[in-house]
Amino acid sequence: MNQVVVALDVGGTGMKCALVRTDGTVHHTERHPTQAERGPEAVLDTILDVASGLADKARADGLEPVAAGVAVPGVVDEENGLAVWSSNIGFRDVPVRACLQERLGLPAALGHDVRVGGIAEARLGAGQGHRHVLFVAIGTGIASALVVDGAGYSGAHGAAGEVGHIVVRPGGPVCGCGLRGCVEAIGSAKSIGRRYAERAGQPGATALDVVTRAAAGDELAATVWREAIEALADGLVTAQALYDVGVLVLGGGLAQAGDALLRPLEQAFHDRISFHRAPEFVRAGLGDEAGCIGAALLALDHLERTA
Ligand SMILES: [Zn+2]
Repeated sequence: MNQVVVALDVGGTGMKCALVRTDGTVHHTERHPTQAERGPEAVLDTILDVASGLADKARADGLEPVAAGVAVPGVVDEENGLAVWSSNIGFRDVPVRACLQERLGLPAALGHDVRVGGIAEARLGAGQGHRHVLFVAIGTGIASALVVDGAGYSGAHGAAGEVGHIVVRPGGPVCGCGLRGCVEAIGSAKSIGRRYAERAGQPGATALDVVTRAAAGDELAATVWREAIEALADGLVTAQALYDVGVLVLGGGLAQAGDALLRPLEQAFHDRISFHRAPEFVRAGLGDEAGCIGAALLALDHLERTA
């Protein structure tokens, strides 16, 4: 088995890149800065240079690169291989897949970072053994991916899974999307840090600081943390009412809080349900490599479909 896929997970600050074997195991990884401030064209050039360098590395290692997969944030048209809209990279209708295919001379696939991360968690990570998986990434923002039988659900416009923008506190704090009272405005790692920092007059406090201080008896931290857990639980109950998944896989930076997040969130979820069936609550298993491995899986799926 000497075939590999070139995989890149492009984020606002960094690119996680890998050569992944056809069974999903990783042969080689590398990381590069995105430097999004250079503009979308320069970022695309870097993506193509890094991908082509990885294909060369594969050949130098005696392996055969057979496809490429790239994951980006924002709104992604997977069918047409377009990065439609991404606020933190500045992509607007960029034909990433066509550029990759042309540069590498290999079949390529483009996917949404959280959706492919969900595919990786469902097939190879914490969601294994379940047919219906909701992967929820809680970091700067909150996004989710519904994965059924190993396939991601992207919606009619490539924009499915935005659980972070379910309004749970009408008239509440302003969200980055412009609405008020979204889950994300109260429960994202960024919001937790900001809300505590504002009320405590301590700029720079992070969500993980809030978790630690709440556990140590800081009342303000405990209040901010409880409000976040309650907002997240309200959003997830809505998601479960719609999706009825078997397992909820929690990832993103906030999942580093481990049981300090999982157990109170699970309890708050159970406090809010009636006839709904509760999913299992588990922490993501692939860490920050999920997006990169997922990009590789997407490329392999694409190969299989076009073979
Ligand atoms: Zn919002």
